Amino acid sequence: MDARDSTNSSATIYDDEVFKMACDQFSVIADYLNIDEGDREWATYPKRAVAVTLPVHMDDGSTKAFQGYRVQHHIALGPTKGGTRFALSLSMGETAALAMWMSWKCALAQLPYGGAKGGVAVDPTKLSRNELEAVSRRYMQEMIPFVGPHTDIMGPDMGTNEQIMAWFMDTYSVYMGYAVNEIVTGKPVAIGGTEGRREATGRGVVYLIERAMSMLKLNPEKCTAIVQGFGNVGSVAALSLAYKSGVKVTGISDHTAAIYNPKGIDVKAAEQHVFKKGNLRAFAQDDHVDPKEFLTLPCDILIPAAVDRVITGKNAGQLKCRILAEAANGPTTPEADRILEKRWDEIFVIPDILCNAGGVIVSYFEWVQGLQAFLWTESEVTDKLFRILEHSFAQVIRRAKEHKISHRTAAMATGVERVIKAKQVRGLFP
Ligand code: GLU
Repeated sequence: MDARDSTNSSATIYDDEVFKMACDQFSVIADYLNIDEGDREWATYPKRAVAVTLPVHMDDGSTKAFQGYRVQHHIALGPTKGGTRFALSLSMGETAALAMWMSWKCALAQLPYGGAKGGVAVDPTKLSRNELEAVSRRYMQEMIPFVGPHTDIMGPDMGTNEQIMAWFMDTYSVYMGYAVNEIVTGKPVAIGGTEGRREATGRGVVYLIERAMSMLKLNPEKCTAIVQGFGNVGSVAALSLAYKSGVKVTGISDHTAAIYNPKGIDVKAAEQHVFKKGNLRAFAQDDHVDPKEFLTLPCDILIPAAVDRVITGKNAGQLKCRILAEAANGPTTPEADRILEKRWDEIFVIPDILCNAGGVIVSYFEWVQGLQAFLWTESEVTDKLFRILEHSFAQVIRRAKEHKISHRTAAMATGVERVIKAKQVRGLFP
């Protein structure tokens, strides 16, 4: 039974399409694992959710109030951990869904965390640097009672970056009266960030793609890739595929343009272009294609690295890739999943909670280094990252094969099982 239909539930602050999707995904796993009805609601609804209003003086003299959220999904395994998203459409329900996915992701990688997510409903590209700093600092200030290095540790996500993490760290530290660099991850290396964090998610995505290519006996030099999203994750993945793995990148896109060229795209030039102009709108204009058709163009490796719910019941049957590497959180709807399950021998899915786990894994390394005042080199970080990913990948593939289930079911079941077990062992107050 769906957690949202059970006897206790009426309308909640989480009601939203993305939260519904996360609950639907959970129901599939709960049925597969035979989780007791009584444990289902408890496992899906967040431990705690905070909504704050952030009044900010704008450059034009006006005052604007932005909405901020933080959702902490569960604390059965340790403090909560998760990114901070700055996006205009952000809602409490979406934040709760993202926090739930963080829980399964952290548990799959065996990190000692529950999931969290937060953010501000704002388009960061429309703010000046001063306004962005004011929103960021006010957000952390409002969150001080609810976060802490042993309570809830923020990290970056869509629309935030190292500078914003630095403002968070500074705001928290000024309040405490000493430098607390373990309060956030994804900080600049200059203030206790770890080597290799910025590249971690994209690097992890490519590591897993290479593992999939070798399993499927695909020669990287003969493979093509299409990458949706050219932010921190998509751009690092595209660059690494093109210049390290030898894969031909034939498609890249962002929210302003979708570019496709079967002869290959100059990804370094695209990166330079975005660095100067902020987006891909004016890049390789002759190769622009309809963004709606972008994901169904022929390629060997398809990487959705942007927003949720882009692979749906409508386009899942038309995907022409051999590997689907889900670098974004929640890119595939449950309806699309049912279609992909039928196409299991055509499309090798690397599910999101495995595929994009590199980011939070290296965030964990950053947190550990902060707590212990250690300094690891980039190669130490990357080696440890690949070791965890290898272990998770092997577990997922083995479970999927043995039980004849999809990679997503295998990955989520492994994560969900660990959380439920911890909750059960700790128990409830009598
Ligand atoms: N935002 C990233 C994710 O969705 C990482 C979060 C973090 O580093 O805490 O996994």
